[in-house]
Amino acid sequence: MHLLRHGKIYILAACTIAFMVATLAMSFDDQTSTQEISMKSKPRALSRSGYNTAPLTKDQVAALATKLTPEQFKVTQKAGTEPAFCGNLLDNKKEGMYCCVVCGLPLFSSENKFNSGTGWPSFFSPFDPDHVGYKKDNEFGMERVEIDCARCGAHLGHVFEDGPKPTGLRYCLNSAALVFHEKGSTLPPECLPMQLKTAYFAGGCFWGVEHWFQECPGVADVSSGYMNGSTENPTYEEVCAHKSGHAEAVRVTYDPSKVSFQQLLDGFFRMHDPTQLDRQGPDVGDQYRSAVFTTDQEQLAQAKAFTAALQISPQFSGKKIVTVIEPAKKFFPAEEYHQDYVERTGRACHGVNPWPAVFAEKKETTAVKSAP
Ligand SMILES: [Zn+2]
Repeated sequence: MHLLRHGKIYILAACTIAFMVATLAMSFDDQTSTQEISMKSKPRALSRSGYNTAPLTKDQVAALATKLTPEQFKVTQKAGTEPAFCGNLLDNKKEGMYCCVVCGLPLFSSENKFNSGTGWPSFFSPFDPDHVGYKKDNEFGMERVEIDCARCGAHLGHVFEDGPKPTGLRYCLNSAALVFHEKGSTLPPECLPMQLKTAYFAGGCFWGVEHWFQECPGVADVSSGYMNGSTENPTYEEVCAHKSGHAEAVRVTYDPSKVSFQQLLDGFFRMHDPTQLDRQGPDVGDQYRSAVFTTDQEQLAQAKAFTAALQISPQFSGKKIVTVIEPAKKFFPAEEYHQDYVERTGRACHGVNPWPAVFAEKKETTAVKSAP
C-alpha cells in the first residue's frame, strides 16, 4: 500500500516539489505577518508559539542522542524509516502533544492527526510551522520533501501533497522520532515554551538600537516600532513630521534566566548618548529622544535607580542624563522595511556594541563577590 502511494507521489513530486516548498514558506510568511513576533531572516531563536528554536550544536545533539534506542537513533540520526504499521503511535487516539524524541520540541498536536491508511502516524499540519524544517530528499530515485526538527535537526519523516483539508498536506511521521505526552500530564522542561519578558527602549534611530539589542546574548527577538505618542497606527512619515509624538523604539523580548533587565539597561546606556535631548548624532527631532518605556512597577523602579546611579558616576559629571523613563503605552511595529535594517543591508547605524563590557562587568562582579 505504501509503495503505491509513494509511486504516485513520485510522479506528482517531480513537478510540484519546488512549488510546494515555496508555498509552504510563503504560507508561513503570510501567517507571520499577523503575528506579534516578526519573521527574521536568520534562523529563529524564538518560534511563533514562544519556544526556544535556536539550532543545537552537533555536540549538543550527540549528547542527547546517547539516550536514544537503536531504532530511535536510526530514524532520527540516520534518516531511517520504520516499517509501516509497526510504530507505537500509529493508532494513538489520545489527546496530547507529539514532541521530538531527541530534544523535546513539540512538533505535532493530536488535533491535527488523521488516519491516512499508510501505516505511519499522519498529521495535516505541524503544531508550529517554525518547529519543522524542510529539505529535498532524492534518495531511492524519488524526489520527496523530508521533514526534520527545527531545533535539533532530527529526521522525522516526509511531507506529501495528498493530505486532507484544510492544508491538503500529509506529514508522514516515524513513531520512533516522537514522544507522546497526553493532555493534562506534566511536560518536561524541554517541551515547554520559553519564559520570556519584554522591555522597550528608545535611543535615536531604531535601526541601530535594534541591531545592538539583536547582538545581546539572551535576547530572543527585537522589533522596531513607534511608542508613546498620541495616535494609533502611526506611519514613519507621520512620526517624522512630528505630528504624533511617537518615539522610534524597539521591543526587546528576552530570556531573564540569561540576561537581566539591569543588564539590558546597562547595555542601552552604553550603546547611545543619553545626554542628547531629542536627538542622537545627526538625527534631530523628538522621535529620536532617549527613553525607557517600562512594563511594570519593578522595571520603572529599576530604570529610575539605574539612571540615578549613572548620573552621579564620574562618567556623567557635569552632563545631564535626559532619558525619559515612563510606563510603556502601545507598541506599534514599524513598516517591514525598517525591520532588521542593519542585518539586511549591512549598513552601519549609530552606537557601539555594549555587550562585551556589560558581560565582562558581570564576571568581575561575580569574581569579587565570590572572593573569600
Ligand atoms: Zn528535536
